[in-house]
Amino acid sequence: MHVRSLLSVRARGLALAGVMLLATAVAPLAADAHFMGWPNGKHAYSGSGLLYLNYSRNCSGTFYAAAGDAAYGWNATPTPVWFQEGSVNACNGAVWNGWIDTYSYNNANDWAWGWAQAYALDTICDLYIWPLGCVSSHQQLDPRWDKTYAAGTIMVNTAKATGSNYFLLVGDVAHEMGHNLGLAHAGYYNGESTGYYSIMDYLNWSYNRPRPHDINDVNALY
Ligand SMILES: [Zn+2]
Repeated sequence: MHVRSLLSVRARGLALAGVMLLATAVAPLAADAHFMGWPNGKHAYSGSGLLYLNYSRNCSGTFYAAAGDAAYGWNATPTPVWFQEGSVNACNGAVWNGWIDTYSYNNANDWAWGWAQAYALDTICDLYIWPLGCVSSHQQLDPRWDKTYAAGTIMVNTAKATGSNYFLLVGDVAHEMGHNLGLAHAGYYNGESTGYYSIMDYLNWSYNRPRPHDINDVNALY
C-alpha cells in the first residue's frame, strides 16, 4: 500500500475510496497501511529470498519463551521476514549493529507492556578542514524510524508477565517486532473507529500473531 505517503491528500482520498470498495468486497480489512517512515523506514532488503533479521532474546527475562513464539509467528507469515535467533554479549541495554535485541525492564506503574526503537547508522564528521572537507568521521547508531534500519531494541515490561497471560506476552513481542519491521500502530491504537484487525493494535485476547493486514503491510514495505 503506497498511497499514504506518495500521493497528495486529495489524490489519496480518491485512491482510498477505490481501495476501500475492494476491501469491503473481499475481506473486512482496513484499507489504509501503517508505516513508521515510508518509504525508507525499514531494513535493507535485496528484493528476493528471505530477509534475515538477527534477533536475541537472552536478555528478555520472563519474556524469553514468548519472544521465541513471537519470532516464530512472524517467520510463519507469507512475507520475506525471517527472525534468526542469536545472542548478544551483555544484557546492558546497548544497541548492537545488525541486531534486534530484546531487553526487559520492570515497572508495575507503567501502563505499557513494552516499547521498541529502530536505529540507523549515521556518519558523523569529527574534523572538517576547509577546503579538504571532512577528513575524519565515525559512524554511530541513532534512534530513527525514517532511515534504513541497522539495529533495533525491544523493551518488554516484566511487571506485566505472569503465567496466566502468556498469550498476551507473545502478542506484546510480536507487536514490538512489527515496529522494528517498520509497521506503525493500526486500528484503535491509531485512533480509528474500527480495530482489532492488526497485531499493531492494542493487545487483546483474540489473537497474538500477525494478521492479514500486517502481512499486507510488510509485503508492501519489502
Ligand atoms: Zn506499539
